[in-house]
Amino acid sequence: MDYENQFRRHLESLHQEGRYRVFADLKRRCGAYPVADHFTETGTRDVTVWCSNDYLGMSQHPAVREAMHEAIDQVGAGSGGTRNISGTTHYHVELERELADLHNKEAALLFTSAYIANDATLSTLTRLIPGLQIFSDEKNHASMIEGIRHGGGPKHIFRHNDLEHLEELLQSVPLDAPKLIAFESVYSMDGHIAPIGTVCDLADKYNALTYLDEVHAVGLYGPRGGGIAELEGVMDRVDVINGTLAKGFGVMGGYIAASKACCDAIRSYAPGFIFTTSLAPAVAAGALASIRHLKRSVIERARHRERVQTLKSMLADVGVPVMDNKSHIVPVMVGDPVHCKAVTDTLLTHYGIYVQPINYPTVPRGTERMRLTPSPVHSDAQMAYLVDSLRELWAACPVANGQYVRLAAE
Ligand code: PLP
Repeated sequence: MDYENQFRRHLESLHQEGRYRVFADLKRRCGAYPVADHFTETGTRDVTVWCSNDYLGMSQHPAVREAMHEAIDQVGAGSGGTRNISGTTHYHVELERELADLHNKEAALLFTSAYIANDATLSTLTRLIPGLQIFSDEKNHASMIEGIRHGGGPKHIFRHNDLEHLEELLQSVPLDAPKLIAFESVYSMDGHIAPIGTVCDLADKYNALTYLDEVHAVGLYGPRGGGIAELEGVMDRVDVINGTLAKGFGVMGGYIAASKACCDAIRSYAPGFIFTTSLAPAVAAGALASIRHLKRSVIERARHRERVQTLKSMLADVGVPVMDNKSHIVPVMVGDPVHCKAVTDTLLTHYGIYVQPINYPTVPRGTERMRLTPSPVHSDAQMAYLVDSLRELWAACPVANGQYVRLAAE
């Protein structure tokens, strides 16, 4: 077997499809976000970042940075072990308490990322509850899909946010069979919001647990940043809430919030929780400061909403196609991987605007897009420049007879 050739063959097929991923080499400027240095072979230049999930700019918030510096100075860099073997610091304990309080649950459990939290929790729930049948939205994130797959139990995929289909599937198994409905509050690529309360009605009717991924909502929605379930007053109806500390809260790590018994069982049985070094104490300290700040301060959320609405209406005014949704995600539809990459390459090299192209498997083929994420710290001038640049590009490469007129760069 020629192993190297095997790797090259797979990479070549990505190149041919136009979906080979190139990472932008960036160095964000603390205090000047969304401006960053972009490192290329020919030198370094300023770019404005328009696709970050640091939705509120909390990664650079003074309170967060201060807490992280202080923790490093007090206890050092690493946690020194798994949670069981010396890696539970006071920062972890306090953070779990804060998260339980944020979601008004009895307990919370930290993981090294929300990806791991989903994978570890869903797979372990399947092992802990014999015969558990999982009902999963077709657009659920890869981490939930993997968790369900690793659990190895029976699963049913319902059409995206389609409650009639969900009910049909729920009816197809015995009423007394254990069930779990897994879904997201804000779907990150389309920006759609799930009807959480109505899903919970179905869960009550068919005696199912509910598992809600609020990764793209925590910090951003609700009076204290508890997410869409908090905003809609249905947090108490959801059994397990999953969230990240990496996006709205601007640091890193993931968690679940649920009943005491549920968290304790996952803590005790989930390999993805047990057999890995815990988060660095400074990371926990930074997340704690971020959550505490966003529980009290509504300034960031209000400004974020305003920025999103402004950008959406500016793009509509110049005819750039944005997928309609009620959330903070601004998906600009392109619909072709090669064209999408050409547009984003041109934005980066000619306009100093950084937006990563989104392609398959993150979104279905033919729905390739740019996913813009305006934040409270994107200025009017930066927004006007982005919209002008996109208008110019759209004028230069219109869609004619369903075909894109290719850019010179393609
Ligand atoms: N869940 C959803 C819906 C996501 O989009 C993501 C990541 O983007 C995750 C979970 C994983 O979050 P994390 O970055 O904390 O691993």
